[in-house]
Amino acid sequence: MEKMNNYYESEEFESKFTYKDDNLGVQFDEKNILFRVWAPTAKEMELIIYNSGDVEEEDNGIGYAMKQDKNGTWYYNLTDSCEGKYYAYKAKFGDESAVLACDPYAKAVGINGERGMIVNPASIQPEGWDNDKNPFSGKNITDAVIYEVHVRDFTINKSINSKNPGKFLGFVEEGLKNSFGQSAGIDYLKELGVTHVHLLPVADYGSVDEKLNGQYNWGYDPKNYNVPEGSYSTNPYDGKSRILELKTMIKKLHDNGIGVIMDVVYNHTYKTDFCFNRIVPDYFYRFDENGDYSEGSGCGNDVASERSMVSKFIVDSIKYWAEEYHFDGFRFDLMGLLDVDTMKAVRQAADSVNPEIIIYGEGWDLETCISKNDILLAKQENTKYLDRIAMFNDDFRDAIKGSVFEDDEIGYISNNMENLSDIINGIMASPQWSSSPTEVINFISCHDNNTLFDKIEIGNKGITFEEKVRQNKLAALIEFTCQGAILIHAGEEILRTKKGKDGLFISDSVRAGDEVNSIKWDDLGKKEYYDVFEYYKGLIEFRKRHSALRMIKRKDIIENIKFIKKDGIIEFMISSGRCGDESDKILVIYNPSDKDIDIKLPEGEWKVCGDYESIDAEGKYSATGNVIVPYISGMILIS
Ligand code: CA
Repeated sequence: MEKMNNYYESEEFESKFTYKDDNLGVQFDEKNILFRVWAPTAKEMELIIYNSGDVEEEDNGIGYAMKQDKNGTWYYNLTDSCEGKYYAYKAKFGDESAVLACDPYAKAVGINGERGMIVNPASIQPEGWDNDKNPFSGKNITDAVIYEVHVRDFTINKSINSKNPGKFLGFVEEGLKNSFGQSAGIDYLKELGVTHVHLLPVADYGSVDEKLNGQYNWGYDPKNYNVPEGSYSTNPYDGKSRILELKTMIKKLHDNGIGVIMDVVYNHTYKTDFCFNRIVPDYFYRFDENGDYSEGSGCGNDVASERSMVSKFIVDSIKYWAEEYHFDGFRFDLMGLLDVDTMKAVRQAADSVNPEIIIYGEGWDLETCISKNDILLAKQENTKYLDRIAMFNDDFRDAIKGSVFEDDEIGYISNNMENLSDIINGIMASPQWSSSPTEVINFISCHDNNTLFDKIEIGNKGITFEEKVRQNKLAALIEFTCQGAILIHAGEEILRTKKGKDGLFISDSVRAGDEVNSIKWDDLGKKEYYDVFEYYKGLIEFRKRHSALRMIKRKDIIENIKFIKKDGIIEFMISSGRCGDESDKILVIYNPSDKDIDIKLPEGEWKVCGDYESIDAEGKYSATGNVIVPYISGMILIS
């Protein structure tokens, strides 16, 4: 193990076996279908063509010996018509051993992603695809209000009777209503006003058997990186169905003014028998000095992104999704495990398709085994080395509601002042680690850990329902009045909860199934829940109207945001819009205490646009002199 590791990292290996061209995988020209695979340590490579994409069917396939070519690649030109058939590679390493593997560059696969499918994805398009456009064009990342959602969770709940529950097509089914006749699904997203959906992984993953239809997983277990997940399609046996249906979903979202961001998981794979690693044994992963898999991801196999052909694989994959599927953004899972150079190349590849593509990730500081210590990792402290790659703001999240890792810890919304400085920093887009608001993704909850509403209850024993709602609304008002981009966890705006049958809170619902995870659309029918939905909707609308909340330069934040109070009660004024845009003055007050407070307003007449009860971007009522800000609530005023 150790020996091979050293060889892979030697200059000799790098110079001999770094392949730079863009034709790995299957290429189609007028007459031929060309297969090319990188397998530098194989002694023989064979292409095998099958009639079936299902490895459980009797089909030994027909083998073709591949020819060795430059930089460790092998190729075969097939002149027969084999479109619609399936394929795999057999690698032999000189001894007895031979392995069968799917093509790491496969663009289409059969059931459960065991074999590639020979089909040109460019030929599979929904109507109007050529004119499909990013609806977010001309805007900046700080204008984004991103809705983080799982495809299956969104429409699987029976209350809305989707024709394609839990599928790509269900996601964009118009006219869905809950039992009370209120809008659900895509219509609901339009009503809420979010700018983007961020989809939990939709690339092929391994934990769900595509032959069954009741299994659940979030999908952070990649199997084929360049193919959509089969269980979200109406026919996972036919490799074309998932391609067409994902594109159809993206098109429909775009047509409705909603951008689409893909959650990508390049830091680990489903299993270590991942196809790339079968063809080039042990090349794809990091190892510790004992030869064990590096464990920074907590998933047993950190990907060695610093190796040139792994880096290329990641970069090629991003470029492919951006170009072929028109994704408008990428969210990198555990980005802190990937190296800075790879992320820079990712940014460049995305720019070559569309410079407006949004990129952000989890810049966590994780222990991983990299043998060369001059390699920088893409974590928060290295934000300065990355251009236009934003990171999640965990300090701000935890300061608002308490650490996600400590059940008993409460945050600012529960009147805990321990991390007050992180709230103040958050309002300014967290300058302790970022150099610009465009590098910051603010959020108060996401798919990981307890939901916001559950976290409030867990940390505050004996809290009443009304107080919980007040804390939730205050948290949202804080998030929407701070600088940086905004991400909300689907359902946060209708008090989403994740409890098991035993009534216990579930902090990790990855395998908890539909009952726990599905969006409970009928909750909208309860008055208190609908109020919270309206509150978020109002905050989104207010934020859209005021560029002062969406600045793009640190300098503008420093010049235009002035704190009037920051001793527990926070009061600040934003005096100008983005880059000097003409703008109202915005006054914001947070009162997490259990007492109503009397605030003396600055000179002039003010319009209250938001209070404990509701948000109205037009203004609810006028105020001069003094206002009362009730317990556990915030207020937004303009002048
Ligand atoms: Ca799958």
